[in-house]
Amino acid sequence: MIAKLKNNSADSVKALFKFLDDASLYFHYLENEQVVIIPKSNDISLIKDFEVVETIYPIDTPFQLASNIWKKTTTIDFSDFTIGANNFNIIAGPCSVENEEQIFKTAEFLSKIGVGLIRGGAFKPRTSPYSFRGLGVDGLKILKQAAKQYNLKIVTEILDLSMLDDVYQYADVLQVGSRNMQNFYMLNELGKIEKPVLLKRGMTARVYEWLLAAEYILSGGNEQVILCERGIRSFDPQSRNVFDLGAISLIKELSHLPIIADPSHGTGASSRVLPMSLAAAATGADGLIIEIHPEPSKALSDKEQALNFTEFEDLIVKLGNLIPNLPYNKTFTLPNKSILNFQSQ
Ligand code: PEP
Ligand code: MN
Repeated sequence: MIAKLKNNSADSVKALFKFLDDASLYFHYLENEQVVIIPKSNDISLIKDFEVVETIYPIDTPFQLASNIWKKTTTIDFSDFTIGANNFNIIAGPCSVENEEQIFKTAEFLSKIGVGLIRGGAFKPRTSPYSFRGLGVDGLKILKQAAKQYNLKIVTEILDLSMLDDVYQYADVLQVGSRNMQNFYMLNELGKIEKPVLLKRGMTARVYEWLLAAEYILSGGNEQVILCERGIRSFDPQSRNVFDLGAISLIKELSHLPIIADPSHGTGASSRVLPMSLAAAATGADGLIIEIHPEPSKALSDKEQALNFTEFEDLIVKLGNLIPNLPYNKTFTLPNKSILNFQSQ
């Protein structure tokens, strides 16, 4: 259960903690939220008479802070736009940052379309050590220059905790990749930072494991978590992953966290990105992250799934027509003035 505390004196808070200690009840206090999490008990009667306790939320799932029993919505607020609630956002860009020309072309294109968030990996988790593994800090610098020129926010992956200082300096949103979803020590440290974290689903993770991974970040005090469904492993070699649309609506049932969908990694094929993007929107996702490239056939990673600019523009137009007709009351948020002529904000 979660107990929301009143703004009360330190002494009355201490009295509650002493009682819980004496009762050998494990608890976790989150000062910024003014809540005490007591994950092993839902017995309201234990603490309801404490002066400091305002509201008690019994929660019978292992994840507590990620549950929507005690909090209904989380939004991630940037100066020009918001992720979550009634917004549908797009993040787009290449799988990897390859060179200046590629990133500046992409950034210019995104700003014309109105997209406000650029993605691109500077540190790449590759299956083979002989594959292109990213430009490292040089890649982050290229992203920053382009983002500055075209008024974009940067989403980029932190592959290892040793990169935290560098990635933190350049990123607006730190991406935790599928392979790191259960890197608990890293998640714990990301709970201490003051920037949003995009937490991708582990490729073999169950939904409750994913929400518990989010709980690591939330319980550290960082409320800004965005979930990302990117597909799970299956037995079928014909598609890279199984893009789990059902998980998107399940997350909506269970959690207040925004969830965006990644049909690029979810399918592994550019031909299936459009239909699965529309499907993810129809399922209630809060947005999409899409891999695009000025010349997909030349991409140094994930070239089979990258959209070219024309395909991406077509996708944006189709989403722009679809989203107002869905039952989620969402606005398609394109923060940079779009050249496309449908209603957007
Ligand atoms: C990526 O976004 O390029 C990536 C490596 O994604 P994932 O962690 O989902 O495989
Ligand atoms: Mn990729």
